[in-house]
Amino acid sequence: MMTESTTASDCIFCKIIAGDVPCNKVCETDTVLAFDDINPQAPVHVLVIPKKHIVQLDECNAEDAQMMGDLMLVAGEVARIKGVTESGYRVSMNNGRDGGQEVFHLHAHVLGGRRMRGMG
Ligand code: 5GP
Ligand code: ZN
Repeated sequence: MMTESTTASDCIFCKIIAGDVPCNKVCETDTVLAFDDINPQAPVHVLVIPKKHIVQLDECNAEDAQMMGDLMLVAGEVARIKGVTESGYRVSMNNGRDGGQEVFHLHAHVLGGRRMRGMG
């Protein structure tokens, strides 16, 4: 049975964490990894993901609070590393079908380097 801590064998982001699929790493902590999106929608487009396989926000519980805090702090760190702190940036998380989620391993998008418009 799949549990939150199970590495999904067919999950592309778990393969990136395992080092089986390459990525352009931006930074990491014990609990999260940040890397450039392969199909950037803005000059800065970085994904921040938990190192543990969690499908989406709905699967998180109190045990994940530290990781979720790290994830948001790393989103801010990514913005500093990429130099968009002053110009501004967007942090977003797509959940499920209507949220537009395509990869079912929790992730936050950090988007910057151009003016964001609308909310999708
Ligand atoms: P979602 O629509 O699920 O919120 O976003 C998934 C994101 O993952 C997309 O922006 C897509 O470009 C990115 N992505 C999918 N596969 C890969 C990959 O193998 N490597 C990287 N770096 N990004 C990926
Ligand atoms: Zn995964």
